[in-house]
Amino acid sequence: MSDNETSPKPAAARRRRPRLTRRRGRSYPPCVACRAEETFAWTCKKCDFVMCQSCMNDNLWGMTCNQISWTCPDCGYDGNSFGTR
Ligand SMILES: [Zn+2]
Ligand SMILES: [Zn+2]
Repeated sequence: MSDNETSPKPAAARRRRPRLTRRRGRSYPPCVACRAEETFAWTCKKCDFVMCQSCMNDNLWGMTCNQISWTCPDCGYDGNSFGTR
């Protein structure tokens, strides 16, 4: 019996822990679609429409045509921009 079968140790699987650090300070009102209070949400500049990131992703096809700015379904203002930073 040969015992030369080396079993390489698999690289330690690094677990990605979601950061649960809550940022204080700026708070967003609950999302109009799912009512979730997120640490970040898209808000209309003209009215108080709020949409969280996941709902925005879901509705992206109906909210934007250029991925740069989005149109508020409430007031129709189309100057809301993505990634101002
Ligand atoms: Zn939502
Ligand atoms: Zn609006």
